[in-house]
Amino acid sequence: MRGLPAPLAALVDHFATLPGIGSKSALRIVLNLLQRPADDAQGLANAIAALHQRVGFCPTCGCFSESDHCAICDDPRRDQGLLCVVEQPVDVLMIERSGFQGCYHVLHGRLSPIDGIGPEQLTLDRLQRRIAGGAIHELVLATSATVDGEATAFYIARNLAVDGLTVSRIARGVPEGGELEYIDEFTLSRALEQRTPW
Ligand SMILES: [Zn+2]
Repeated sequence: MRGLPAPLAALVDHFATLPGIGSKSALRIVLNLLQRPADDAQGLANAIAALHQRVGFCPTCGCFSESDHCAICDDPRRDQGLLCVVEQPVDVLMIERSGFQGCYHVLHGRLSPIDGIGPEQLTLDRLQRRIAGGAIHELVLATSATVDGEATAFYIARNLAVDGLTVSRIARGVPEGGELEYIDEFTLSRALEQRTPW
């Protein structure tokens, strides 16, 4: 950005690469940081630096973790045999809001032949080992409701199912508080197909 001191311009450029932040917003953020006490900027810098230093992925489930095991895998009150299979760690945060009391398996992606992402690029081998361990009784496939998400769920159901393991798929349908007139016909059609007895 012309006319800005180099350190200011560099920080604006960094912020402007973040999702949802254009160059004007980036400039506003940086100028705001400059107006605050230096400790505020240092606190932000420390938090950003700690991201990659301290946050990794749980080697068991693939969720965000600060140590070798995540708080979810270590929680004895959860059903360790009920695994919700999701595409990304952020999906875990969303499902946690629902009050789900099982554990997770994060695939870190979904099958996408057009992007060259096959089964070996996902954490399916790790999932298979968890299933082979014998302690898992149900997989809830919570991959996205897209063509690739459906294909990923189908692949898992077909290739990883073993005797004694229930494989289910999250339902799709009418959202809480949703007016029928605003719901697309595919969602409505799926909601009718997956209707449940009252
Ligand atoms: Zn974990």
